Amino acid sequence: MNNMNHSIHEFAVQLIQNCPVCQKVKPIGIVEVIDEKPMNYLLRASCKFCNSGMMLKVQVMPNGLFGSVLVTDLAANEIERFRKEKAVSVDHVINAHSLSDKAWKEFINS
Ligand SMILES: [Zn+2]
Repeated sequence: MNNMNHSIHEFAVQLIQNCPVCQKVKPIGIVEVIDEKPMNYLLRASCKFCNSGMMLKVQVMPNGLFGSVLVTDLAANEIERFRKEKAVSVDHVINAHSLSDKAWKEFINS
């Protein structure tokens, strides 16, 4: 682990005092960097006790670290893939509704 990766691991350790799932103290195990910009990181961390996944958005400010955390079951490569995909459009929702409506009508008429 190089110095920068060590610092990034420390960011996660400082931000997450307790696992949001199992509540154990100092839960941070493996930390993966998904995106890195100057003083701004998107990370995926695992709890070393229950192996729950967490996605962390970390900003390094002059007066400390700011971050938000989401519990996730996505792997780092899946977070990266979904991050790059386009948002769901109204057309996608209408098409999905039409398909499910058609499938339902076929089911009840069979
Ligand atoms: Zn845990």
